[in-house]
Amino acid sequence: NTIANEQAAEVRTTCPYCGVGCGVLARVASDGEVSVRGDPDHPANRGRLCSKGAALGETMGLEGRVLHPEVGGKRADWDAALDLVARRFSEAIAEHGPDSVAFYISGQLLTEDYYVANKMMKGFIGSANIDTNSRLCMASSVAGHRRAFGEDVVPGVYEDFEEADLVVLTGSNTAWCHPILYQRILAARHARGTKIVVIDPRRTATADECDLHLALDPGTDVLLFNGLLAHLARSGAVDESYVAAHTCGFDSAIQVASADAPTVEKVAAGCGLTVADVRLFYELFTTHERAVTVYSQGVNQSAHGTDKVNAIINCHLATGRIGKPGTGPFSVTGQPNAMGGREVGGLANQLAAHMSFENPADIERVARFWNAPKMARKGGLKAVDLFQAAGDGRVKALWIMGTNPVVSMPDAGRVRAALKACDFVVVSDVARTDTTRYADVFLPAAGWGEKDGMVTNSERRLSRQRPFMPIAGEVRADWRIISDVARRMGFGEAFDYANPARIFREHAALSAFENAGERLFDIGALATLSDASYQAFEPRHWPMPIGHEANERLLGDGWFPTPDGRARFVPVRQEGFAQTTDAAYPLVLNTGRLRDQWHTMTRTGAVPRLMANAPDPVIDLHPLDAAARGLSEGDLAHLSTRYGFARAKVRITNAQRPGQAFLPMHWSGHFAGAAAAGQLASPVTDPYSGQPELKQVPLRVTREQTA
Ligand code: SF4
Repeated sequence: NTIANEQAAEVRTTCPYCGVGCGVLARVASDGEVSVRGDPDHPANRGRLCSKGAALGETMGLEGRVLHPEVGGKRADWDAALDLVARRFSEAIAEHGPDSVAFYISGQLLTEDYYVANKMMKGFIGSANIDTNSRLCMASSVAGHRRAFGEDVVPGVYEDFEEADLVVLTGSNTAWCHPILYQRILAARHARGTKIVVIDPRRTATADECDLHLALDPGTDVLLFNGLLAHLARSGAVDESYVAAHTCGFDSAIQVASADAPTVEKVAAGCGLTVADVRLFYELFTTHERAVTVYSQGVNQSAHGTDKVNAIINCHLATGRIGKPGTGPFSVTGQPNAMGGREVGGLANQLAAHMSFENPADIERVARFWNAPKMARKGGLKAVDLFQAAGDGRVKALWIMGTNPVVSMPDAGRVRAALKACDFVVVSDVARTDTTRYADVFLPAAGWGEKDGMVTNSERRLSRQRPFMPIAGEVRADWRIISDVARRMGFGEAFDYANPARIFREHAALSAFENAGERLFDIGALATLSDASYQAFEPRHWPMPIGHEANERLLGDGWFPTPDGRARFVPVRQEGFAQTTDAAYPLVLNTGRLRDQWHTMTRTGAVPRLMANAPDPVIDLHPLDAAARGLSEGDLAHLSTRYGFARAKVRITNAQRPGQAFLPMHWSGHFAGAAAAGQLASPVTDPYSGQPELKQVPLRVTREQTA
């Protein structure tokens, strides 16, 4: 009986960390202890969990949480706090116009939270000043997809990783950052001999089991893939009938690529690789029809991220390897609901449901659907610009939801100054963070285990996050907090939501509405989902073409959502670097994740066994660079860039190439004296996506002078 009761109490939910979107079974014992295990029935992970997911049960304590609203750092009741937020936002809008307010939201938010925030800002306040920390994660992929496919369409599914004969992992330490996907790739390799190519300036754990590691010079990805496109043309590997029937722009793309990368020797020299290695990569890609190119932040977080994405997509279009089993360019997202945010349009330059500010008919369609009194007519401020505007007085009231920008944003020192300067700052979050100290009003939000809603993973699979704990203290769900403020600002019954199911139905109806008369996807059924069906919802892809069953890939029929139904080749050139090293800053700083930590460690930092492997921030240096600075293993180093400085312990490793350094992105001021990668990083952004260049910053390393 006891066992039966315990099993009955197990709740099916979804991991709140990375974009793999693993299913989790969570259970609360009678003593309050939470245990988790991988959901064997969830298609993303089939029962597996990585180190972070497996430790979720140890992160459920209340330390660091604030369970009631605060105004000016003092406890307040909800009515007083919400009234104040509504009044200050309304006053700013009345006095300075709708663009004087902004929301900065998060890929941690559930789809329903995202939808309500987006609707409030774009349809009722009348500004598109709503951007998300996903801007730092996948905006270049979105822009690259839109340039090539006409819309932000992710064609593939995770099964492609297992059905491919060649997996190219570029700019992605998959073994640490998307561990369950990496395990799936390795299992396929052991079962069927999948070839793996890793393209990364660092030798990471992902390169431990690969056929070829290309440690290219940072920022030379376009040259490498332009060389591949030229090689495909030279070797007769272009699928000419596919190119003729389903694409346009091939001739100019191949012309530019051939001029940029005329020979393998030129590519090798330009990328800092050997001719033999480049040739081997090109041969592997040419001879393996089933090839997937998986890419992540090493591609996206760049001043030329969108061009890198299109250089990759060009090679898949040239070979017709899109939307078919075991093929495709595949962007893996960092956050649990980055994809859900894309679906609702939660980026400053998107409208909703893949509609565009560039199309007046789209604006009218969304305005009609929302019955919006003040519809935004143009894109708003993207993340870096948004904080700049908060600092220089253009944004008077800023609401930050579920994210910690004073640690994660590039040039974080300037972000801190902006928050100090901004007239009115609201932060809603689960726990106290480095950012909450700048809040005029703090609104306590429900956390994982309390929240109820939908997330979408990197393969467009919807899954439910379900509550399995009672709501702590006075905290509230994000969608409810946003709706509470919206109603107080006079936006009325448009925000009268009884539950998240009601919001999800509205989101699905808007998406179906958008597709009416065009391509029909099976979204309409989701728009009429009953509350009970929403509760019992099984993971499934979004959207799915009508009449198809699970695991449907998109774009496989060669139709693209462009005016003429054809994909676009985008001619791209290898550009010079946004910032170059010099005598003062001679090293190139790369930043990234550790296996056991998530973002700014507000959750994983509380688990001793996750901290045990890497308790301190460490800067990785090549032996030659360490020796040149008189640094030994474990020394404390002073790190400085043109933007700020930090401290970290030295680790000497041959995984780094000479002239390059690596610092994890996680640490913050919470960990005294620690490095904050965001403080060092540059605010230079990609011109198409607005994504900052977090991977390639000129750096000086010296011995820290201790008192
Ligand atoms: Fe969670 Fe990602 Fe690990 Fe899966 S791979 S358990 S989603 S952190």
